[in-house]
Amino acid sequence: MAWDFSTDPAFQEQLDWMRAFVRDEIWPLETLVDELEQSELDAIYAPLQVRVKARGLWAAHLPPELGGQGFGQVKLGLMHEILGSSPFAPNAFGNQAPDSGNSEILALAGTPEQKERWLYPLLAGDLKSAFSMTEPDTAGSDPTQLRSRAVRDGDEWVINGHKWFSSNGSIADFLIVMVVTDPDARPHQRASMIVVPADAPGVHIVRDVPTMEHPAPSFGKLGGHAEIRYEDVRVPAENLLGGEGEGFLIAQHRLGPGRIHHCMRWLGVSRRAFDMLCERSLSRQSHGGLLADKQTIQNWIADSAAQMQAARLMTLHAAWVMDTQGASAARTDISLIKFFGAGVLHDVIDRALQAHGSLGYSTDLPLEAMYRYARAARFYDGPDEVHRQSVARQILRGYEPPSDGVPSEHVPTRREAARRKFADLLDTVTAND
Ligand SMILES: Cc1cc2nc3c(=O)[nH]c(=O)nc-3n(C[C@H](O)[C@H](O)[C@H](O)COP(=O)(O)OP(=O)(O)OC[C@H]3O[C@@H](n4cnc5c(N)ncnc54)[C@H](O)[C@@H]3O)c2cc1C
Repeated sequence: MAWDFSTDPAFQEQLDWMRAFVRDEIWPLETLVDELEQSELDAIYAPLQVRVKARGLWAAHLPPELGGQGFGQVKLGLMHEILGSSPFAPNAFGNQAPDSGNSEILALAGTPEQKERWLYPLLAGDLKSAFSMTEPDTAGSDPTQLRSRAVRDGDEWVINGHKWFSSNGSIADFLIVMVVTDPDARPHQRASMIVVPADAPGVHIVRDVPTMEHPAPSFGKLGGHAEIRYEDVRVPAENLLGGEGEGFLIAQHRLGPGRIHHCMRWLGVSRRAFDMLCERSLSRQSHGGLLADKQTIQNWIADSAAQMQAARLMTLHAAWVMDTQGASAARTDISLIKFFGAGVLHDVIDRALQAHGSLGYSTDLPLEAMYRYARAARFYDGPDEVHRQSVARQILRGYEPPSDGVPSEHVPTRREAARRKFADLLDTVTAND
């Protein structure tokens, strides 16, 4: 089948507008974020969000009936490539994780009442949310091991557990919490998602976890990763999302598009680092010439361009499979881009940083922050190793071991078979000699 990732002129115009908007309005904001309070940031974002809404680009990941545009994954991918150029762009476009993923969950699994109470205010930007699944004491890459529990007591769920890395948990108005509701069920049917208001008694935000990206997070600010204890938290039974035991099913629906958007955003970051690499190589003199004239630097430029092109085409292809054949058909493609894209992101930033020497290592350039941001991409939303394992397993399903244990390409065996196959012809030639 032919793949064509060119887009129609009207959407191209939107992309061009987005590119200019992000560069002119969001990039300058990056330099101030650390100095501003969340309320000041909200005030700066508000008029930007109005302009995005007026362009019809707000929360574009949602289906049209919820105010999204129904663009499909290829177009959304092209949008996210632009949003990725700044970590502060998605918030202006109603695409800020985890609100974007949570709104998809609510759109997919929410009842009309749940949508009324949580989804519409979330989309309007009146509420903030967090997704609370990872636990410090169990492997996040294998959520069948989750321990946090919700037990039904009359018409309430009583939740006890310990979570961390709940992004935006310390500023959220509500949390979607993944908890075990039936420990005796099959592994993928043990957990459910429950909406917990952040002010429910028993929700204790312990801290925003200091990380490589934010070594000294200011508590209660966008982008923090909260550690949370849930202690006898009671919520109404109707806060369950979807059916009991459907936590994994819902998570799976949410993660596919989310990974495509991640990969396209990483390309936006890579592109920015790549531009810095090229610009620097044309201005820095060393050992009698420009960096641009050194073969190592030329290799970095060429390798980065090739890797980014490959990652871009692979990601758009995964998006196209999702659009044309559905999420489950795109499973292997999505795992491929998740680990491949994370590697490209790292490599391109690493080379750009290296080419800038101390300047690249300093906070005078965004490269060191990009580098810290890039490191986490190799394990959030599934570590590289798990995606590689999943790809290999799915590929191997198309193969069989040889019945006699001899490799099917074994040359001596094939030679024997070839001799038998052509024996009559060879006999004729010999007889005529
Ligand atoms: C920036 C950031 C934001 C996040 N936001 C959220 C959020 O909003 N909500 C939330 O719930 N969580 C969030 N997380 C947590 C994230 O989802 C987990 O870190 C991730 O799922 C991995 O889980 P873990 O950290 O427990 O690592 P583990 O599961 O303990 O894995 C550690 C390592 O073990 C190795 N490994 C695991 N399985 C295999 C395997 N099968 N084969 C080979 N090696 C393997 C891999 O090298 C892996 O990196 C976030 C994390 C980060 C860094």
